Amino acid sequence: MRKGKRLLLVAATTGYQTREFAEAARRLEVELVLATDRCHVLEDPWGDHAIPVRFEALEESAAAAAAAGPFDGPFDGLVAVGDRPARLAALIATRLGIPFSPPDAVEACGDKFLARERLRSAGMRVPRYFRVPVQEDPRTAAERAPYPCVLKPLGQAASRGVIRADDREEFVAAFHRIRALLEVADVLRFRDARDRYILVEAFIEGPEFAVEGLVTAGKLQTLALFDKPDPLDGPFFEETIYVTPSRQPEVVRQELIGATQEAVRALGLTHGPLHAELRHNREGAWILEVAARPIGGLCSRALRFAPDTSLEELLLRHALGEDVGEVSLATPASGVMMIPIPRAGIYAGARGVREAEAVPGVEQVIVTAREGQALVPLPEGSSYLGFLFARGSTPDEVEAAMRRAHAHLEFEIRSSLPVVSAAALLTP
Ligand code: ADP
Ligand code: CA
Repeated sequence: MRKGKRLLLVAATTGYQTREFAEAARRLEVELVLATDRCHVLEDPWGDHAIPVRFEALEESAAAAAAAGPFDGPFDGLVAVGDRPARLAALIATRLGIPFSPPDAVEACGDKFLARERLRSAGMRVPRYFRVPVQEDPRTAAERAPYPCVLKPLGQAASRGVIRADDREEFVAAFHRIRALLEVADVLRFRDARDRYILVEAFIEGPEFAVEGLVTAGKLQTLALFDKPDPLDGPFFEETIYVTPSRQPEVVRQELIGATQEAVRALGLTHGPLHAELRHNREGAWILEVAARPIGGLCSRALRFAPDTSLEELLLRHALGEDVGEVSLATPASGVMMIPIPRAGIYAGARGVREAEAVPGVEQVIVTAREGQALVPLPEGSSYLGFLFARGSTPDEVEAAMRRAHAHLEFEIRSSLPVVSAAALLTP
């Protein structure tokens, strides 16, 4: 039934996640064509049939991708990994008439201010918020901010640049820090209007959760609801442990999923994967953000569906229009730990990986940091040292296994020596 089907995968990297999709496509015997800006990468197994796109020029790239060839026929579906790829995918889908959430909905998901506006208009519970042009003197904004509050860039991800401030002084310091972050090359290259503002939000108390889901004709199918058991009180908000199923009582779980479905409607999402983050307290569920893409990095490995299906396989089947409404997780409990970067420096190696992997319940420990790599912790950085996966009969068991495994890991991080630039040496 799938033979001869062709899917387009839009991705900004040719890393793990892309390879998982390639592997899933092989298993399903469908052709997967990659649209990416990394076509020149030597290790790229996709070689000559990748479509080159530029994420700095979404409209132009959508037109080029929609007209690209030569292929033997039209695409039967579309998947995207990453926020910016999702925005491009929505534009391509419109041009080709492939089911995907509309561009304005995906745009709103990728802009924390627009997202808040849509949620508020729909009558959803939102914290007090306002945005401030990044060039403005933060002292004025500090006067009217609710405390404690969170400052964040509108278009970044992985908690990059998200900082809590408890008073005016911390507000001004956080603002300057985010402004500096928005002036680095990997942000500036996109010249995105959203990078010219900083969002200020009242701090929402309470434990945090993540929802991994699929949207079909505007309806949410929850694939997994994760607890994030480590406290996220700031000043920076590092993701660490995700465990599913959630240990919250049924009513709380229902409120979290109900709020996510409501947000899908408010944002205008209609078709494709979803990754949402929420908090919950006495007032109920609060949306932190909804992304029109699957969970990032290697984290999808924490999810296996019965009988033996990866998240990527499921997403490809969904993109082909198959009904995947009946799937369920293969194990009673599972989880992932994004291994945090303890401090800045140069990565020089890991010890204890074997011992960590030997902890009962731990399935895999993957160190993604490379020797010699500069490690940048939050709030400026946006990566992890690696990932740790566990499975078990209860979420408590899974969480405990991950914590025990993490305790075995020891990372060697060298202090980076101050670098004197050549220009400074030449200056008389
Ligand atoms: P990103 O897209 O970079 O992940 P988020 O808006 O999801 O940005 O924020 C990252 C983290 O910062 C959240 O997971 C949460 O822990 C914390 N955070 C963000 N906004 C708030 C808020 N208003 N109140 C409390 N915590 C927040
Ligand atoms: Ca987030």
